[in-house]
Amino acid sequence: MTLPTFFEMLNTLVGSPSVSSLSSELDTSNRAVIDHLANWLHDLDFDVDVLASSDDWKFNLVARKGRGEGGVLLSGHSDTVPCDPDLWTQSPFSVKTDDSKYYGLGTCDMKGFFPVVLEVVQQFKESQLGRPIAVLVTADEESTMAGARHIATNHPIFADIAVIGEPTDLQPIFAHKGIFVARIRTVGKSGHSSNPTLGVSALEDMYNAIREIMAFRTELQRSNNDSVFAVPVPTLNLGCLHAGDSANRICGQAELLIDCRILPGMSTTEVVSRLEEQLMAIGSKMDSDIEFELVMPPIEPFKTPSSSRFIQLMEKLSGRPSGTVAFGTEAPFLQQMGIETVIFGPGSIDQAHQANEYLSLAQIEPAKRALSQLIHEYCCK
Ligand SMILES: [Zn+2]
Repeated sequence: MTLPTFFEMLNTLVGSPSVSSLSSELDTSNRAVIDHLANWLHDLDFDVDVLASSDDWKFNLVARKGRGEGGVLLSGHSDTVPCDPDLWTQSPFSVKTDDSKYYGLGTCDMKGFFPVVLEVVQQFKESQLGRPIAVLVTADEESTMAGARHIATNHPIFADIAVIGEPTDLQPIFAHKGIFVARIRTVGKSGHSSNPTLGVSALEDMYNAIREIMAFRTELQRSNNDSVFAVPVPTLNLGCLHAGDSANRICGQAELLIDCRILPGMSTTEVVSRLEEQLMAIGSKMDSDIEFELVMPPIEPFKTPSSSRFIQLMEKLSGRPSGTVAFGTEAPFLQQMGIETVIFGPGSIDQAHQANEYLSLAQIEPAKRALSQLIHEYCCK
């Protein structure tokens, strides 16, 4: 079977909205994207499984061609972030090109990776393959990573190495930090400001909580360092604070959101529970109640040793030194399945999550070449 052209495939995928959002008004199913990819992979003689990720709304796809153990996994997410069509100069849901760029929602992050994958894998006949080629397409990467989480827990994939085609401008990425976002709330009692005994100030107790959080951060940064990152220490940002309603009322409630980014080798679960314990300990000395909760499931840090054969080969194939990025990906879930993972894909993260998102055509052929050579190296007899 022959595939549609690159443009036709990309236009079909971009034309099938698959927005992930924690807000249910914006969230859409990714079924259409999964079905198109399932059909094309099926036409290329892949065994294709479409697996429900959550309810009958979100789906993952696992496809495989070739027998034997190990092999290469090519992985990407089917969803996009929401968009504001008013900020676009064209419809976000159809692909426009000016001969150097493809414009459209998800062209770079990361629907554009799939036509690359399809054109690469179509070159390999089953009889050439001593080890399999696998393809994973996930749901909900942009919101909760529920798709990759579901695969790692319920349908583990066996492969030697994996490439996640997130936009890295074709630089091999071997590490990123882990991330968690937490909400801390203090609940006091409001009352007239003229008499402090009429209430309990949640804002003053939040001040104590913030001092504790900053001391926790100092300790984290004192004992953890990894020079592969531009910011070599864990970070903890006090991102937003809402408290009280009026100067002449005792503040009854305060709420703080923090974002914490930790290094490979650290565990988000452990950092989260230590921070929560410390806050509960000072909370027991406060008059306000204190609450701590994660806003969404944390992303673990990820690192493949940059000296590994795989990363060395990716450096050779891309002609670029490997590096690190500041954003989280599904790599920790692939690592959890025992797969050595690199992040490497066409397009720039600078264009991701932006109006008039685009993919440079100039990166498509080099991406295809590097992935073809990788498959030759790891899968062919
Ligand atoms: Zn992405």
